[in-house]
Amino acid sequence: MFALKGIIIHTPTKDTLEIHENEYVLVSDDGICEGIVSLLPDAYQKAKVYDYTDCFIFPGMCDMHVHAPQYGFRGMGLLIDGDSDWSTWFDNYSFPEESQYKDLGYAEKAYSRFVNDLLTKTTTTRASVFATIHRPATEYLMKKMAEAGFSAFVGKLNMDRNSKYGLIETMEESIEETERWLEDTASPEYGDVKPIITPRYTPSCTDPLMEQLGILAEKYQVPVQSHLSENLEEIEWVKQLKPEISFYAQAYDMYGLFGSKVPTVMAHCIYPLDGEFELLKNRDVMVAHCPACNLSAANGIAPVLDYLEAGIKVGLGSDMAGSYTLNLLYNITAAINVSKARFFMIEQNGDPYAKKHFLSVANAFYLATKGGGQFFGKVGSFEEGYEFDAVVYDSRMLNDFRERSVEDRFHRLLWTFEQAMICSKFIRGKLVYENPEF
Ligand code: FE
Repeated sequence: MFALKGIIIHTPTKDTLEIHENEYVLVSDDGICEGIVSLLPDAYQKAKVYDYTDCFIFPGMCDMHVHAPQYGFRGMGLLIDGDSDWSTWFDNYSFPEESQYKDLGYAEKAYSRFVNDLLTKTTTTRASVFATIHRPATEYLMKKMAEAGFSAFVGKLNMDRNSKYGLIETMEESIEETERWLEDTASPEYGDVKPIITPRYTPSCTDPLMEQLGILAEKYQVPVQSHLSENLEEIEWVKQLKPEISFYAQAYDMYGLFGSKVPTVMAHCIYPLDGEFELLKNRDVMVAHCPACNLSAANGIAPVLDYLEAGIKVGLGSDMAGSYTLNLLYNITAAINVSKARFFMIEQNGDPYAKKHFLSVANAFYLATKGGGQFFGKVGSFEEGYEFDAVVYDSRMLNDFRERSVEDRFHRLLWTFEQAMICSKFIRGKLVYENPEF
């Protein structure tokens, strides 16, 4: 057992931000939170105490949508203008880069950097990751993440149509490689990094492939991730490909790939039709909200508050490299900012006196922690019984020359985190990173 002392912040509900100033969070021998206390109880008198007095201790964050192979070209191609759109971005950046992962040597270099940066430069402790169609590279990424101590889902992509640059499989190859990968990654060397069935999105996968993926997901009891309603052009394309359905989510649901058989997380969900909204709720599908990416790609703003108020599960995703930073703290503030834009552009509906309605800091912090954490079990909070994932930030270098309240210092850290220092990170009760400069 051990304890951490510091400024402990978590959101037990979407509307409750709890701040415990220089208190202790207690962790059992099996890595489970045993509560937050102001004085160490007798049982912990001889336990190790990590003293992070005046540093911030957050629950580890859950990146619910991230493309690991796109990390190398982050920050490029995001200046969408009238002459380019997301298909140009795929052609110029995404597909040419992902095709490199056929070469395991390239994948080893690139994924090693991705995993190291995810560990040492971000708040992320859990993730739902897209790899590429290449099985050996995907297995390498999974081993690397397991070695680093992450708990994650990683998907070998499936694509048997509408692709380029060697990123296309036949339906038979796709299924054969996927099944082999599901069997390979059941071995203990993959630790807590598990496979997740990952049809890239409907336009990339034929109906027979989707059908087989649904069968595999059920047979191996593996969850599913994909993209849903990311932009209007994509929605139109899906309508042409599947004229028999009345909304996009049905293109997954008809093959058991939308929560009816195994847990499912869908990125974006920006333009839900009524039926889609209901199906997200009824199938308990998690929405991975990716505000920074949605803004970069000029795709729109998802109705996140409506989802939360309807009881639909929502987590946050960096959607690297549609956005340019892996750190979810950036996406917390982006989520707040885009929800303000949504209010002014859409919900206010021309009424200057309309009651303001956008995400609070508590709401957005919840999305990054307990919101996404629901996909992994009891994760993303310091409540008793939760798995202990934490990230510790030293923000003292942000201080100015006045006394500031702990709330003000917390808000300053959210908006200026790049100037602060990550001290350490814990995943499932294990210390996985300690910054030597702290
Ligand atoms: Fe994506």
